[in-house]
Amino acid sequence: MIRHTKSAAVPSSLGRGVQANEDNCTAYDTAAADYRSGARSFDIRKGIYGTDVVKRQLKADQHDKCAFCEAIFDANVAGDVEHYRPKGAVDTDAGRIYPGYYWLGYTWENLCYACPDCNSYRKRNWFPLENEANRALDHHADITLEQPLLLDAYGQRNPREHIVFRGEAATGLTAAGDATIDILALGRTTLARERLQHLRTLTLVHESVSLFDGDPRPEAIAFLQRARAELAAAILPGARFSAATADHLAALDAGENFLPASAA
Ligand SMILES: [Zn+2]
Repeated sequence: MIRHTKSAAVPSSLGRGVQANEDNCTAYDTAAADYRSGARSFDIRKGIYGTDVVKRQLKADQHDKCAFCEAIFDANVAGDVEHYRPKGAVDTDAGRIYPGYYWLGYTWENLCYACPDCNSYRKRNWFPLENEANRALDHHADITLEQPLLLDAYGQRNPREHIVFRGEAATGLTAAGDATIDILALGRTTLARERLQHLRTLTLVHESVSLFDGDPRPEAIAFLQRARAELAAAILPGARFSAATADHLAALDAGENFLPASAA
């Protein structure tokens, strides 16, 4: 997971969301107890927050990658516009809290683009805090008092300071790093397998650079140049699994390889 910069321009469809957010706040104040009990719930409309224009902008801001796992996945499945703070309910270890962060349902700052595996199967309504007592339970509360354990790709905190990779394996450096890995299952089998394969290929490129370094043949010099460019591109923000790749290549440079031994 890496930090992204969100476009300052709010996508046009969220213009309707300003009023919709306000309407939901008004509705809450007329029947707060019902919303808190779950007897009433808000209909946060995908037709406003999840439109093509919102999705396109988020995808561009995130280089087409999932905000959480850094996979480029949309060749096979469509991604979703996801709410960082859950819009409909919050699941905690102590149980479900209603009605969720309804007042941020159409708020640009609360949206990101994620793969179905991270979003629909892992994150869902989980949003743990360091101190549950600080949770904003309605729009009258101050969310800046919260210390979320889930990292935000668009937040103040740099995810790279909370999660490191040893080979293809993600490791938490902080409570937020640990919680984020846990909530999203960043070590899940299918994802780790794809990351591993990617890192193995780059390991070969890295080895070939060492092998051909100093070789005077013109074709070796040209090859070295291409191989070095390939490695440099693999850690750019637009590259898939760029955090894991950067940590792995740094380890290789230091003479360490944390990938499991290849079966081949
Ligand atoms: Zn993902």
